[in-house]
Amino acid sequence: MRINTQLIHGGISEDPYTGAVSTPIYRSSTFHQHTLGGNPKWEYARTGNPTRASLELMMAQLEEGVAGFAFASGSAAIHAVFSLYSSGDHFIVGKDVYGGTFRLINKVLKRFGLEFTVVDTRDLSAIEGAIQDNTVAVYLETPTNPLLEVSDIQAIAEVTKAHGLKVIIDNTFATPYNQRPLTLGADIVVHSATKYLGGHSDVVGGIAVTSDQGIAKRLAFIQNSIGAVLGPDDSWLLQRGIKTLGARMRVHHANTAAIINLLEQDPRVARVLYPGLSDFSGHQIAKKQMDNFGAMVSFELQEGLSAKKFVESLQIITLAESLGGIESLIEVPSVMTHGSIPREVRLANGIKDELIRLSVGIEDEEDLLEDLKQALDQLEEGGNRKL
Ligand SMILES: *Cc1c(COP(=O)(O)O)cnc(C)c1O
Repeated sequence: MRINTQLIHGGISEDPYTGAVSTPIYRSSTFHQHTLGGNPKWEYARTGNPTRASLELMMAQLEEGVAGFAFASGSAAIHAVFSLYSSGDHFIVGKDVYGGTFRLINKVLKRFGLEFTVVDTRDLSAIEGAIQDNTVAVYLETPTNPLLEVSDIQAIAEVTKAHGLKVIIDNTFATPYNQRPLTLGADIVVHSATKYLGGHSDVVGGIAVTSDQGIAKRLAFIQNSIGAVLGPDDSWLLQRGIKTLGARMRVHHANTAAIINLLEQDPRVARVLYPGLSDFSGHQIAKKQMDNFGAMVSFELQEGLSAKKFVESLQIITLAESLGGIESLIEVPSVMTHGSIPREVRLANGIKDELIRLSVGIEDEEDLLEDLKQALDQLEEGGNRKL
C-alpha cells in the first residue's frame, strides 16, 4: 500500500463486530473476563483500549516500526521514552530541540539522575566527541525549530551504532508523510500528534513508535506503569485527523512553494530558511532523507524592519504558537517560542529579532499571498519601527 492509501486503510480500519468503517470509540474502562486467570486481549483500559490500539497500529505502520504507543501529549510520549532509562545514563541531545523538551530535561529528568550533553547534531564529530562510557542514546529533531536545520539521521545512526547507542528522533515537523526515521536507522520516533498528525488544532496527543521488539516491550510496560495514555475520544479524533494527512500535506506543500516564491523575491525579506531551497545548507541531506520538505518556513525581514508590525498587520494568517494545523499560524520566535532564552544566547544561536516562523496552512494560496504582500507593504509606512 502506498502512503495515501495507507493513511485511509491502515490500522484497524473496520470494526470487527459491526463493520463500521470508522473505528468506534470504546469508552469502557474495563472488560468482562470470561474465564478466571485467562489471558484476555482486553482487560483494563490503561493497559489497552481498542480505539487507542487502532491508532497505535496505524502509527506503527506509517513509521514502519513494530509497535506504536499513544500518550496524552507529545511531552508525555517524550517522558515515557526517557523513562526507559535509569539514573546515571547519559544522552546526547540536539541543540535546538523543542523548548518543552529542554524544560523536561533540565527541570525534571536531571533530578532523577539522567545526564545530558547538548550538541549541534549536524556535526558528526561533535556527536562522537560527546560520547561517554555511560552514553545510551542520541535524541534530536530534524528539521529543527525555528531554523529548520537538517541533521543526517542515517549518518548519525551509523556513527552511534558503533558505540551501541540508540537514536531517538522527534519527527513532529516532518511527519511520516515526509520522513520515516526508523527506515534510516533510528530506534525510536516520537511525535507531538497535536501538530500535523491531528492537523486541526483540536487535540493534544503524543506518539512513540519503535523498530525494536525489546524496546516495544519495555515501552508498553512504561506506558502502562506511568499511565499517561491517550483517552479513547482523543484517540479517535487523532485517527480521524491522520486519515487526511496526505490530502492536507499536498495542499500544505503547494501553498508553501508559492509562499517561498513570494518571499524570495521580496526586497523586504532578507533570507528564507527552508530545507527545500537548493542553496539552503541542509538541502542535500534533506533531499536524501525526506520525501518532501514540509510546510514550516522561517524568514528574516531586512534588518531594522519590525517583525511586530508585520505579524500584527496580517488579516488571515493567525498570530499564534503551535503549528501543523489547517490554519496558517505565524510567530516571532524571539518574543514567543524562544522568548525565554537570553537575547545574546538567542542571537548567538542565529535567532534574530527579525526572524519569523510560518506554519503554512491549507487556505487558498492567493489569499495567503495577498495577506503576506499587504503586511509587507505596511512595513514601508510608519517608519518601520523596530521591535
Ligand atoms: C509541540 C511539540 C512537542 C510537545 O508536544 P505537546 O503535544 O505539546 O506536549 C514536542 N516536540 C515538538 C517538535 C513540538 O513541536
